[in-house]
Amino acid sequence: MTQLTLDQQRRFQKAHRRFVIGVLIALMYCGGVGLAAQFVSLEPVGLLVTLGIFVVTGIVLWCMFGYRCPACGTTPRARVWSVGGGEVTYSSMVALFPRECSGCGIQLDARPRD
Ligand SMILES: [Zn+2]
Repeated sequence: MTQLTLDQQRRFQKAHRRFVIGVLIALMYCGGVGLAAQFVSLEPVGLLVTLGIFVVTGIVLWCMFGYRCPACGTTPRARVWSVGGGEVTYSSMVALFPRECSGCGIQLDARPRD
């Protein structure tokens, strides 16, 4: 099996959209707080900012929960290589726009052909 069924594709696309929205919310929150900190002191609302970070982290985790390959259940991951300070590090992180599953290799962005 190298392709998802239409139903699986639809489910994955829904989960993927939710995941991207969650990441965007987190980025906007961090960007917004970072920007605000340039102009005003966030100290009086420090507790609110901290609470917000918890909420945003929760949203991202919740979005990630349903974001997995419909065929094998693995969260799509991207391999990241980086070279710095004479050291090569390898890490793997959740892929935002995976072309195929890192677990079973099935095509994830396959659009229905007509
Ligand atoms: Zn898979």
